[in-house]
Amino acid sequence: MMLEDEDYLDAIHNMISTEKVNAEYAVAVTGDNFSEMFSGMDDDYMKARAADIKDISNRLGRNLAGAEETDLGAMEPSIIVADDLSPSETVQMDKEKILAFVTVHGSVNSHTAILARMMNIPALIGVPVDLNEIHTGMQAVVDGFNGEVIFEPSEEICQKTIIRIKEEEEKLRLLHALKGKENITLDGKRIDIYANIGNVSDIGYVLENDAGGIGLFRSEFLYLGRTDFPTEEEQYQAYKQAAQMMAGKKVVIRTLDIGADKQADYFNLGKEDNPAMGYRAIRICLKQQDIFKTQLRALLRAAVHGNISIMYPMITSTEEVSEIYGIVKEVQEELEAAQVPYRVPEQGIMIETPAAVMISDELAEMVDFFSVGTNDLTQYTLAIDRQNEKLDDFYKPHHKAILRMIQIAADNAHKCGKWIGICGELGADLELTEEFLRMGIDELSVSPSMVLKIRRIVRESRAVQA
Ligand code: PEP
Ligand code: MG
Repeated sequence: MMLEDEDYLDAIHNMISTEKVNAEYAVAVTGDNFSEMFSGMDDDYMKARAADIKDISNRLGRNLAGAEETDLGAMEPSIIVADDLSPSETVQMDKEKILAFVTVHGSVNSHTAILARMMNIPALIGVPVDLNEIHTGMQAVVDGFNGEVIFEPSEEICQKTIIRIKEEEEKLRLLHALKGKENITLDGKRIDIYANIGNVSDIGYVLENDAGGIGLFRSEFLYLGRTDFPTEEEQYQAYKQAAQMMAGKKVVIRTLDIGADKQADYFNLGKEDNPAMGYRAIRICLKQQDIFKTQLRALLRAAVHGNISIMYPMITSTEEVSEIYGIVKEVQEELEAAQVPYRVPEQGIMIETPAAVMISDELAEMVDFFSVGTNDLTQYTLAIDRQNEKLDDFYKPHHKAILRMIQIAADNAHKCGKWIGICGELGADLELTEEFLRMGIDELSVSPSMVLKIRRIVRESRAVQA
């Protein structure tokens, strides 16, 4: 509609015929003039249109100049260099085409970084790059091992990098020889090694790396990068497909954990001073039960098709679990009445708040399993916002407090005969694998690319100290 606006078009035509400038220039100047006019208006709505005019004029200019759209789906395999990336932007990218991420801002504990790890894409976060110096088409080497990016590398660096890539491929080939082998220690303790995913399309990596199951399906990624809620049917199809592709192996689907850094506009969550400690995850589900019930209906229906478990995030009390069970019961009765096939599967909770650890004896009696979310548990225990890049040096998941909390939760789970896993990033920390085995952890759920590395360590470890 804006492009059909007579004033806007007249201004462009007029400039071309009177000033004899080219069309791109006329569009750019007219766009600037109109957007300035809108930003000077009193009405907030009209003010905000300034950005739309700019957007349209830029696009028109690009089309006139024959420039290519930055269509991330259609791009060549590339390194993405950006100021920052949100999880919703990242989740929309075609993973096959991304060689690496480099961002100026962001935290290594953010979901964007987690997504990159899940996709096995090298990601450098918080790199002081001058974005004005960077343009599409430049060559770059991203060294994920040393955390370095080199723009327009010399021939020598390119050659060294190619050799390095070959060496890494060889290491990977050796690692893949562990496929099909058991996760069993030298003294006979078995542990399950599962994978974390955000979408059904990640299951390829799960199978490729021979994970024993999916220990964390972050279902909220189905809700990101879109303009409205996914329907029950869409969710049912996604969960069913996951269950079917995993062919009887466990698929732990975490219910919606939206909020904090994972934002979708249509939720209208509003701005909060402390989003990490705010209206998120199970709190939204308990307050806006229609959203929760849609997801639960999809999950109960999909559970008929495989080995699905449901996991609830951000639990802090036994009352929340009772309330959840009440809602599950309602959903069950509705499906029963409508004669829709369903199954109520295993249900567990994430242990990711200090409160949940402290009452894990009571919680263990109510649920089928625990999975420790060390990312949030670290954030809440050490009082460190995981999104705050200034605090990356203080974010210490190895802190004794965290390790003791995991042990408390593990002991309480086992007293009630329940299993416990770790699905936060700490589960993939190879320095701690042996310690987790000694703590009695039953399952580690990690990014797919870490599965075989952990298997190797497990097979070289002893669960009981000699
Ligand atoms: C965690 O908090 O450790 C976790 C696994 O959940 P997320 O990272 O999605 O918050
Ligand atoms: Mg969490």
